[in-house]
Amino acid sequence: MPREKERDLDKNLYEKIDHYGLVPNVEACLTCGKCVGNCPVAVINPSFNSRQMIRDVLVGNATRLLQSEEIWQCFWCGYCYQSCPMGIHFPLLMMQIRYLAIENNYGLRYFAPFKKFALRARDDGMTFVAGSTRGRERIMAIRSEAGMTPWPEISEKAREEYKALFDLTGTTAWLEAIDPEAEIPASYTYREGRIVHD
Ligand code: SF4
Ligand code: SF4
Repeated sequence: MPREKERDLDKNLYEKIDHYGLVPNVEACLTCGKCVGNCPVAVINPSFNSRQMIRDVLVGNATRLLQSEEIWQCFWCGYCYQSCPMGIHFPLLMMQIRYLAIENNYGLRYFAPFKKFALRARDDGMTFVAGSTRGRERIMAIRSEAGMTPWPEISEKAREEYKALFDLTGTTAWLEAIDPEAEIPASYTYREGRIVHD
């Protein structure tokens, strides 16, 4: 399949991704590839290429970037940022790429667990609940041995404040608007530097 056509490029892609200006220096990328050379995901999957993704952000290649599987493979270890001579915070850029992908209904199956955790945090003040009675008992025993209360205590006031933060910042509305059923399969990959549809 050929590369994207000029007319299909989104010239405002970088602006859309870095909406809040959190990674303002992407245009300073030297294409040196140090980020790729130090990325553990790239070792396992040669089609994962942060340098190429940065190029796509800058030229506006929204199709390949937002619809690709690779944007869900980064696990934010930060090695790319540590090794970048220009101090480009690729992990933070990646986080925002995912937000834009989600808003366009790509990768929702990857996002679904996070949505569940986040809404639980809003309601209960904590994201983790042991899945089994045995697991819960084990956690309680370890906590007690360590001199802690058997289970984390969250005051009603703290719960209310946490909930208010979610609601006032629009996070609750944003999370609830995301419908996993609306997913458009993320089926493009970076293999061979071209668009490949599985
Ligand atoms: S290490 Fe930094 S400058 Fe080099 S390609 Fe990666 S992002 Fe660009
Ligand atoms: S933060 Fe992501 S892109 Fe950067 S080195 Fe780690 S896995 Fe690779």
